[in-house]
Amino acid sequence: MQLSDRTCLHCLRPLSAICFDKRGKVYTKCYGCGARTFAPSGECLRGLALLTDFASKIAAEMDHDPKYARENARKFAAFIEELRSVAAPPPVVSAQDLANATAPGERVA
Ligand SMILES: [Zn+2]
Repeated sequence: MQLSDRTCLHCLRPLSAICFDKRGKVYTKCYGCGARTFAPSGECLRGLALLTDFASKIAAEMDHDPKYARENARKFAAFIEELRSVAAPPPVVSAQDLANATAPGERVA
C-alpha cells in the first residue's frame, strides 16, 4: 500500500510515494531522484506531513518565477559547494544533477 503523488522533499518533484514495509514501518521513495527515506518512529512523520505541501509550493513557484528558480539554484549550488568543502571523498553530484535542480516540476520519463 502506498500514498502516491507526494512532493519529494529531496528533489521537489511530485513523484514521491509514502509506503509501508513488511513490518508496517513508513518510508518514502521517489521515482524522480531515487531517494528512499525511512521513518523509524512516528515523530519522523511530522515533517513529512507538514513539509510536503510546502515543498510543493516551492516547486510550483520555481516553475512560474525564473528569478526565484535562479535564486534557489544558486542556494543549491552553494549547498553542494559547502558539502564538497567538508566531505572526503567529495559527494557525487554531477553537472546534470545541478541542471535538473532548476526544474523540479518536470516529470521524469
Ligand atoms: Zn525525489
